[in-house]
Amino acid sequence: MAIAEHPFICDSCGKDRRKDTNHWFILWIAEMGPFQDTIKPGLVIEPFSLERAVGYGKRHTCGVSCAIRLTERYLTIGQFEVVTVGSEIPQ
Ligand SMILES: [Zn+2]
Repeated sequence: MAIAEHPFICDSCGKDRRKDTNHWFILWIAEMGPFQDTIKPGLVIEPFSLERAVGYGKRHTCGVSCAIRLTERYLTIGQFEVVTVGSEIPQ
């Protein structure tokens, strides 16, 4: 199955998931709400699973510290910064 061979790379530090599959996370921005008739963006962080890892805007990290680094970018600039390493980054 092709998805199992997808070479996920940590979007924070560049680690290759094929070398270490423990403690990975998926981060993505979801539409939350409506709250008082307004849809708002919300950060979702969930344990890595192959079934949910692929999709537009999904980011992947190799552990807690890298997840925190991506979260910090999101909180600082309002989006996940496009970095030179990573997977599933639209060009
Ligand atoms: Zn990492």
